[in-house]
Amino acid sequence: MAHILLRHRDIENMHKLEVYRANGGYDALQKALNEYQPGELIDIVKASGLRGRGGAGFPTGLKWSFIPKAPGEKYIVVNSDESEMGTFKDRELLEKNPHQVIEGAMIAAYAIGAKQIYNYMRGEFMGIGQHFEEALQECYEAGILGDNIFGTDFSCRMYGYYGAGAYICGEETALLASLQGDLGQPWAKPPFPAIEGLYKKPTVVNNTETLANVPPIIMNGADWYKSIGTEKSPGPKIVCLSGHVNNPGNYEVEMGMSFRELVYGENYGGGIRGGKKFKALLPSGGSGPVVVEDALEAPITYEGLTPFGSTVGSASVVVMDETTDMVWAAMKMAHFFKHESCGKCTPCREGTFWMDKLLSRIYHGQGTEKDLEVLKSVAGQIGGKTLCALGDFAINPVLSTIRHFFDEYKAKVSGKQAVKETAVPATTD
Ligand code: SF4
Repeated sequence: MAHILLRHRDIENMHKLEVYRANGGYDALQKALNEYQPGELIDIVKASGLRGRGGAGFPTGLKWSFIPKAPGEKYIVVNSDESEMGTFKDRELLEKNPHQVIEGAMIAAYAIGAKQIYNYMRGEFMGIGQHFEEALQECYEAGILGDNIFGTDFSCRMYGYYGAGAYICGEETALLASLQGDLGQPWAKPPFPAIEGLYKKPTVVNNTETLANVPPIIMNGADWYKSIGTEKSPGPKIVCLSGHVNNPGNYEVEMGMSFRELVYGENYGGGIRGGKKFKALLPSGGSGPVVVEDALEAPITYEGLTPFGSTVGSASVVVMDETTDMVWAAMKMAHFFKHESCGKCTPCREGTFWMDKLLSRIYHGQGTEKDLEVLKSVAGQIGGKTLCALGDFAINPVLSTIRHFFDEYKAKVSGKQAVKETAVPATTD
């Protein structure tokens, strides 16, 4: 199947405006401006079933519909913070197929009545962002961005912005705070960004990949989009596959494909590196619970991992083979979340600190059974008690590894298992 999102893999130089235009680029924007009222576009995206590709899976058209219809300043913000462990899809889109993201964001802007779009990129994207900035420049020079686009009343400007590389700025309110020059910390909701977002104006924050889905939906219709994937999770999805597989990388898959096919399929992961046995995988980077072999049959959909107590999130799949020390893996993830906690609320600030400390003690053979109990208790004091989802993310790898690999923890606290160095799973972050 030809790619819908990673089209640059089929067509050379897709990042150039003339190549993008020669292959139907910006036709969807023209169609949107000439054939539809803004509300009709929201209805099409709603009918398509497109769900946010950043992790939460919230219905995109519904999110757009929350924006007040009254005239006034409104914003589209593209979330290109992409800082989940093992996630590297948005960078490929921005570097190789940036016009599809720009076009999707412009259609979104027209649909909600916004005239300004910001693309918030993580600081480490400085080099990649240059490709995106060049694409913007091409659009301004061709009159695709600016005033009276394609001879219509629609005027729109788009800007790139770089954060400083904080994980928490992937959370939409922290992102907006950072974008307007404040400390990158989440704010309590309500107010939701749809009512009070950037500069206290109605704002839609959409993930980069989400917006890249919009032009093909407008060109081909909601029914076409719904014919791909499953009923509740329609469309294509870029999956970031890393860790102990033969062929790590980004794969555009039809939602509904199994994790087994992703890991072992010859067109995808190609099996476990070195012929080793599969042990576990992180389906959604470090923020979702670890799953084990029985979950390989689950479909890659928003609800496919629910019976296994996990979630697909942004589909950053990290595979771990039989040599992986799961206490080590949990310790590394706990350390990451402790480092990335913004410190605004106590359960997360203090709890991630203690989980990091306890896991380090346990992993290094200095922990006791009591430490293991305290670790579970601390995790219990974080879950559901924090201002944003980072607190829940932080406990997922800890509690899920305890659930699936309790023997490994027990061996560590009873001094039966020597500490060994474990290979770091390959990720590009
Ligand atoms: Fe900050 Fe953590 Fe609280 Fe989120 S949960 S607001 S990251 S301290």
